[in-house]
Formats: sequence, structure tokens, C-alpha cells
Amino acid sequence: MTYCKIGGVARVLCIAESEADLVEVIEYRKASALPDEDVFVLGGGANMLINDARDYGLVLKLSQRFNAIRYDETTQTARIEAGIHTPRLVREAAKRGWDGFQFLAGVPGSLGGAIVMNAGIRELSTWKLVIEIEGIDWNGERRTLTREELNPGYRKGNVPADVIVTAATCAVHVGDPDTIHATARTLSSSRRETQPLQFPSWGSTFMNPSGASSTGRTAGALVDAAGLKGYRVGDAQISEVHANFIVNRGNATAADALACIRHAYQVVRDQFEIRLEPEVCLVGFAPSELAFLEDR
Ligand SMILES: Cc1cc2nc3c(=O)[nH]c(=O)nc-3n(C[C@H](O)[C@H](O)[C@H](O)COP(=O)(O)OP(=O)(O)OC[C@H]3O[C@@H](n4cnc5c(N)ncnc54)[C@H](O)[C@@H]3O)c2cc1C
Repeated sequence: MTYCKIGGVARVLCIAESEADLVEVIEYRKASALPDEDVFVLGGGANMLINDARDYGLVLKLSQRFNAIRYDETTQTARIEAGIHTPRLVREAAKRGWDGFQFLAGVPGSLGGAIVMNAGIRELSTWKLVIEIEGIDWNGERRTLTREELNPGYRKGNVPADVIVTAATCAVHVGDPDTIHATARTLSSSRRETQPLQFPSWGSTFMNPSGASSTGRTAGALVDAAGLKGYRVGDAQISEVHANFIVNRGNATAADALACIRHAYQVVRDQFEIRLEPEVCLVGFAPSELAFLEDR
């Protein structure tokens, strides 16, 4: 269920089709007294490395049916449910002539994941569109959180960890449908030239260090300059095409993939005195396995 094709076993997988399903699964979690480390929300699985050496008590995912789009002409906003896949959202927005969603073309996953990650490209990010989100927390409380409250940053939506995002209200700007379609197509095809899309991955491994846009010292440039393109542990490999991507060449395990992440982190730290911050969500690892990040 993840883009990188690595993950553990869910003892219970809930694919929620409605808010009523969410209420039920929250009750189930309470009744089973599952600890935090045994439970997580999976969006499209496009930005996660999940430890496959263990299993999980409960994994929650919003179904594709959580995808309604409702336009409010008075406020020129759209309420969009968080289970919608981003490529579909881009298509739906383009069909309606809504400008501004195109940057998500080629950013796989769901709207919920894009909100949590504040997914984006260059200066464009999900929270530039989102005004507020709706969700439900694991106590069963409905939550509405505004952009001002969360103050999202680079690849950080700052959504509280206990909130299941169910919908977002987005600002809508009407543009020319032909131009919108064309931009989305250009963005998607430029990725095919620069990213190793023939292999499963989770996209970028590390966030760019601050100031990277002016210095050119992006995470990928640093890993590349450290000579690590092609570095391989088992079937996990630092891509030869884009050094910030780690690809699964076949049957990579979470340990293989984490070993590549650790090596890249340590070599870049030692050569450039820069401590990269993972962008990929590392799920289900013991604190000792992630201790290498603690010197940050
Ligand atoms: C080939 C490729 C290219 C990529 N390019 C980009 C890019 O250009 N820019 C970019 O920003 N990212 C990129 N990514 C990463 C990924 O597409 C984004 O981070 C995406 O937004 C993740 O969405 P998701 O639904 O798959 O989230 P997941 O990976 O499933 O989850 C990410 C986090 O969000 C949480 N989450 C997901 N849904 C919910 C919800 N409904 N409620 C609460 N928490 C939730 C998860 O628990 C997890 O912590 C790329 C990935 C791949 C594989």
C-alpha cells in the first residue's frame, strides 16, 4: 500500500468510507487501548517508510469515496474531502477552470497527506491553497483548524499528530482551462525527465537545507556531491538519476532503505557539516534505529 513497496503488516486495516466509519474506528481503538506506536494514518503512502520488521495494531486510511468537492460561489471556496488522490484533484480543478492546483500534478498521494506534509514544489505548497481543515481527533472530537492557527512551513503542515484530516476548504481562483491543463501536463512531464519514476520510492528523502534555493546546496546536490549516487544496500539504492531519491530495485527491506538514509545523512554531515532533516515519514522504527538523527 506504499509507493516504495515496503511496509509491515496491519493487524487491523480500516478503510473509512464515511465519518460514521471514523467514529467506529475511534471507538475500536479506545476499546483496544492500542498504544500510539501501534496506530497510524496512511494517506496514499507516497511519503512513508514503514518498518516491515514489525506489525501494527491499527492502520487507518480514508477511502477514495472520501473525495467529494463542493464549491461555494459566495465565498469562492471549495470544500474538498481529504481522501481524494492529488492527480484526480488536479484533473477535477482543471476541468472546472480552477487555477492554482496544477503544482500538485505529479505529487502522488492524497489531499490529506499533502496537507500534513505541506507538499509542494519550489515556492508553491498545499497550504497556499488551503484556508482551513476539518478533522476528527482520536478522542472523537471534531476539529477545525485554520492556516493562521497552524502556521504551516516548508514540508510541515503542523497538523496535530492526533488529528485525522477529513476535509479542507481551499481558495478558488478561476483561470483559463487550456492554460491550466497545459501547465499541469508540463509539470508532470518534466518529472519524468528528472526523477527515477521507473522504480518505487517515497520521493525526496531529505528536506532541502534552508537557503538552498540561493546556494544551490539542495539535499540532492549534497548527496550527489558526496559521491553517493548508486550507493546500494540490498535492493535499496540512492538513485543514479536523482540523489535525493532512494529507490526500491526489487525486494528492498525497511532496514536496507534506512541503512541508505543513515549513510547519506552521515556522509553529508561529515563532508559538509550539514545535518539533513528527513522529509520521508519514518514509521515504526525503534528510537535506537533513528538515534543517528539525534545529533541534529
Ligand atoms: C515519485 C514521487 C514524487 C514526489 N514528489 C514530491 C514533490 O514534488 N513534492 C512533495 O512535497 N512531495 C513529493 N512526494 C512525496 C509525496 O507525494 C507527498 O508528501 C504527498 O503529499 C504524500 O501524500 P500521501 O497521501 O501519500 O501521504 P502519506 O505518505 O500516506 O502520509 C504522509 C503523512 O501524512 C499523514 N497522513 C496522511 N493522510 C492523513 C490524514 N487524512 N489525516 C492525518 N494524517 C494523514 C501520515 O500519517 C504521514 O504522517 C513525492 C513522492 C513520490 C513517490
